[in-house]
Amino acid sequence: MERGYPSLMSLLMKQGGPSRGAAPVVGREVLVGPDPDICKVTGVMFAARREFLIKDISERTYYSILTTLGPTTLQQAMNPVASAWYDFSTIVEYDKAIYQSCHAKYPHILELVGAASAELGIGRVFHQLDTAELYAFLENLAKFHEQYQKYGQLTVERTPTGARMHYRDYPCYSPYFCISGNGFMLEAILRHGATEADVVETQCHCRGDHVCTYELTWR
Ligand SMILES: [Zn+2]
Repeated sequence: MERGYPSLMSLLMKQGGPSRGAAPVVGREVLVGPDPDICKVTGVMFAARREFLIKDISERTYYSILTTLGPTTLQQAMNPVASAWYDFSTIVEYDKAIYQSCHAKYPHILELVGAASAELGIGRVFHQLDTAELYAFLENLAKFHEQYQKYGQLTVERTPTGARMHYRDYPCYSPYFCISGNGFMLEAILRHGATEADVVETQCHCRGDHVCTYELTWR
């Protein structure tokens, strides 16, 4: 393992997006569940989006996206507080605005948004595949899930070719958010040294399943 160099952008962005292409934005969404108090995500997600837009897209695009947001989401997008909890509906509003503004030029923009979160959270880059570290990272995601979202549970299953991540008990969900999850996991795999990474969401709350399951494979 080696300490990474500061990287200018996510590895997913460097490789031009997911090899299987952008996931289609389909399915239904529930923005506020029966208990609105738990439909919250960490402010870190807002901080990562702000940094990504300014650093990897353009400051001008970031400011033009801001003009389309409602007052609450605007405030959080401008001054994200990492330790704060924000309504799930506001991160989805933000991601829809990012998608509208950027998807013509970057078809996989939602995956890139998720990758930027992983880039920020992991930092270092492994130069050879370190499967043990990758599993440890994925298992820590499950262990510390409640630090990222106030709802849902994550379990990780090892498979012969990678891993399977199951997100259960989601009172709120949106395909915009689920797709950014693809990018987050792709970036996590690539940063742990894999040369080939693939992630597909095989089951999804947005498509009527009772779980969001991501199939991760790597080499
Ligand atoms: Zn899903």
